[in-house]
Formats: sequence, structure tokens, C-alpha cells
Amino acid sequence: MFEPVVPGLARLGIVFINVYALGEPGGPWVLVDAGLKGSGDYIRRAADRRFRARPEAIVLTHGHFDHVGAAGLLADSWDVPLYAHPLETPYLTSLSDYPPRDPTMGGAMAQMSRVMPDHGYDFGPRVLMLPADGAVPGAPGWRWLHTPGHTPGHVSLLRESDRVLLAGDALATMDLDSWSAYLTRRRGFNRPSPPFTCDWATTRDSIGKLADLRPAVVAAGHGLPISGGGVAQELRSFVDGFTPPRRGRYVGSPPRAGDRGVEWLPQPVPDPYARGVALGMAFAAGALLFAARRRRRQS
Ligand SMILES: [Zn+2]
Ligand SMILES: [Zn+2]
Repeated sequence: MFEPVVPGLARLGIVFINVYALGEPGGPWVLVDAGLKGSGDYIRRAADRRFRARPEAIVLTHGHFDHVGAAGLLADSWDVPLYAHPLETPYLTSLSDYPPRDPTMGGAMAQMSRVMPDHGYDFGPRVLMLPADGAVPGAPGWRWLHTPGHTPGHVSLLRESDRVLLAGDALATMDLDSWSAYLTRRRGFNRPSPPFTCDWATTRDSIGKLADLRPAVVAAGHGLPISGGGVAQELRSFVDGFTPPRRGRYVGSPPRAGDRGVEWLPQPVPDPYARGVALGMAFAAGALLFAARRRRRQS
């Protein structure tokens, strides 16, 4: 079910991923991001329950698999456009894949990312560019801001009247590196998903730009929304202390991307965890085989 964050903004959680709805029931509304592949029916049912009408559009903060998984299905079933930043469209129209995910910095998301996709998508003519004047089609009062770094064409959305910020994956409001955070859902400003973030200096600049807006509420693609008196100050402190991961393929030399997608990639770096992961997988496979054999013997 969509949960209200503030009037005119509601959140729907899908595992540890959020999609958002801009607008109130009875009026026009816009879906922001489209979750995982396979979550289309869940999003549709939740949207039907809250709005009883299709949205004006789907706005994509960026094109990663956990934000566009059900975008094609939803856009087709509602017959609505998918809006994105021009620099993100190569990954939404099959012109380019994203730079390969980089799990070499370690941490929970990095290890899980080994089985996550990093390819582009082809949503064809459904993909439209966000208007250059900053307007968000179908969501008056909101404007989009280019916040690159996590991906080249990442956008965040701001409602200026009460400084409500939808940050997408420009940052996270949970610690994606910590296994326990997925259970406790502890709130706090954190780096965007490290294995999928390509340019750390630009990521920091974009978070700085968001902190300059002095938001009163921050909702992101991952984690629970943060609100209350100290939000702007907390975000400022996060920027001031911002550090990229200690190692990783893209930490020192980000890939280059243009209006047709990825143009240059740094060389791969050694993966210090690959052996541990292989050992873990072998152990898990051994345990499964042992259990299966025992079950066979018992039957
Ligand atoms: Zn992402
Ligand atoms: Zn994400």
C-alpha cells in the first residue's frame, strides 16, 4: 500500500526499494520510478487502490534495474510516457548498457550486486525527455534537478513550496553497505549504492547541490524518508564528511559517458572478495547436496 509521506507525496516500498506517487487521490498524479521486474502488478494494485485512475506519466530518476524493472509493463498498461533526463535515455532505448557493476569495494550491496543486472533497457518511443525548463509533467509545483554521479542522467525532484526533496539514488537514507540495516531500516544519510555508482566526485557535488536547497523532507530510492527540524543541517554535515569507498574500479577514474551512453571504461581491478564468494557458494552448494542426499536416504 502507498504510505503518505507528506500531503501530495506517498511511498510504496518493494523489498528495500521505493517508488513514489506525486499527487493526491482525486487529482492528477505521477509515478516516480517503477521498481523491480515482477513488481508491476503490485504497483498497479497499490496505485488503483489509492488513486482509482491511471497516472499522467511515469518519471524515472534513472534507469537502473531496481527503478525501471516494471516501467515497460506499467507504461504499456496505463498508456503513459516514461520521462527521463536526456543523458539517461541511452540506457532506456537500448543504445548503451551501464558501466559494469563493481563489487570490489565490499559491503552488503556490493556482494548482492554480483547477481544483479547492469544492462540497459529498450522502452522505445515511450521514453520522452524531461522538459528543459525543469517542469515535471503532470506534477505542478515540482521541478526536476540534474543530479549526476550515481548515473550520468540521474534526476532528483523538488517541491519548492515546502522543500520536499525526492532524491532517487543521488543518496540513500539507509546504509546499503550494512547487512543489518536491511532489517533495522535505520534512517540516515548515506552514499548511493556503491557497486552501481560510477562517478564519486560528481556524486558528492550533486549531494552538495541538494544540501544547498535546505530540504525539510528527504525521501530516496532506498531507505525510509527523513524529516524533522534538523534535516537540512544533517544533510550538510553528510556532504561535509562525504567519502567515497576506499577502493573500487571507478573510485579514482570514473567512466566517461555521453549522449549515446558509455564512451570509455577504466580497466577492471582485482576483486579481493571473489575467492571468499566462490568459497561461500561452494559451501552452500555442498550443504544443499548433503541435505538432499540425507532426505533421499530417509525416504
Ligand atoms: Zn541506482
Ligand atoms: Zn536504486
